Amino acid sequence: MHADTKCVHSGADHDAYTGGLNTPIFPSSAHEYLDREDTAYPRYFNTLNQKVLVRKICDLEGAEDGVVFSSGMAAISSVLLSFLEPGDHAVLQDEIYGGSHAFVDAFFRRFGIDYTYAGTGAGDIAAAIRPETRLIFIETPTNPLLGIVDIRAVAEAAKRSGCLTVIDNTFATPILQSPISLGIDVVIHSGTKYLGGHSDLSAGAAVTRADLAAKIRHTAVNFGGNLNALSCYLLERSLKTLAIRVKRQSENALEMARYLDGDPAFGKVRYPGLPDHPGHDTARGQMSGFGAMLSFELGDPDFPVDDFMKRLRLIRPAVSLGGVESTICDPARTSHSKVTPEARARQGISNSLLRLSVGIENIDDLVEDVRQAIYR
Ligand SMILES: *Cc1c(COP(=O)(O)O)cnc(C)c1O
Repeated sequence: MHADTKCVHSGADHDAYTGGLNTPIFPSSAHEYLDREDTAYPRYFNTLNQKVLVRKICDLEGAEDGVVFSSGMAAISSVLLSFLEPGDHAVLQDEIYGGSHAFVDAFFRRFGIDYTYAGTGAGDIAAAIRPETRLIFIETPTNPLLGIVDIRAVAEAAKRSGCLTVIDNTFATPILQSPISLGIDVVIHSGTKYLGGHSDLSAGAAVTRADLAAKIRHTAVNFGGNLNALSCYLLERSLKTLAIRVKRQSENALEMARYLDGDPAFGKVRYPGLPDHPGHDTARGQMSGFGAMLSFELGDPDFPVDDFMKRLRLIRPAVSLGGVESTICDPARTSHSKVTPEARARQGISNSLLRLSVGIENIDDLVEDVRQAIYR
C-alpha cells in the first residue's frame, strides 16, 4: 500500500457492534481481568485506542512496534533514558529541538550520562563518536534553521561503532521521509505537530523494532506519559488526512520560499527546497518533498519582528507548528527561549529570525499576507 492509502486504512479497528467505520473510543481505565490474558490499563499502553494508533504510525514509518505518548517530550525523554546508563556517552546534534536540548542539559549529567553536541554534518556527528558512545540522536530538517542531516551516512557511521540511532522525524513526517528505510533504529514524533495537524491535541510517538519497543514501553510504563483514549481517537482521525495535508503544505512552502527569496524586502531565507540551501542535494536524496517549515529574516534589520507579525492578517503569530493554519514565531523568544543565548548564537538563531509553518490555505493569499505586512 502507498502512504496515502495507509493513512486512511492502516490500523483501523471497525466497530463490530454497530458497523460504524471509525474506531470506537474506549475510555475505560478499569477492565475485567479474570480469564483474560492481556488486561488493558492506559498506563500500560495496551488499550485498544492506543494499539490502533500505534499500528497506523508503525505502518507509515515501516516499524514493527511502538509507543504513543502524551507529548513529543514524553517520547523523547522515555526513549533516551531507555537506552542510556551511567557511564554511557551520547552524541546529539546541536540543532535539535529546544526542549530536547533543555532535557539533555537538565538530566544527563545527573544520571551520569556524558554527551557531546555535534554539528549538523554527518562527518561532525561521526567524529564525535567515542568507544563508550551508545546512542546518536539526530533531527532533520532542523528547527528552526532547516539544516539537513545525511541520514544514511549517520546510520552507517553508527552501525560501524555499534551505536543505536534515534531520529526526531517531526518536521519531515513519514510522508516525506522514511528514516527506518535509511538505516535508523528509532523514529520519534511530536504528534502535536503534523501528525495531529489541527493545533488541537498534544501527543508523541516512538516507533522501532519489536525488541527496542519493548524496552521503551518498560521505561514509559514507569514514567507514565500515556496518551488518553480521546486524544488517541483524534490523532487517528487526523492521520487519515496526513498525506494530503503535508503534500499541500510542502508545495505551498516551496512557493512561499521562492517568493521571499526573490523579494529584496526580505533577508536570508532558509528552506531546503531552494537550490542554494546547503542541504538541498542531501534533502533531494532522502525526502520526497522539502517540508512546510521555513525561516527567514527581514531585509531591514531595524524593522521590529513584532511589528511585522502584528501586521499579518492571516498568518497567526503562535507557538507550535504543523497545523492546517499558517503560523509564525520568533524562535529566540519561543521554541528556543530555554536554550542559552551562547548556544543560540553558536547555532545562528538571531533575535530577528522568523520561523514560518506554512498551512494548507491558498498560497496566493499567504504570499499576499507577507507582502502587505512588509510594504504597508
Ligand atoms: C514540538 C517538538 C517537539 C516536542 O513535542 P511536544 O509535543 O511539544 O512535547 C519535539 N521535536 C520537535 C522537532 C518539535 O517541533
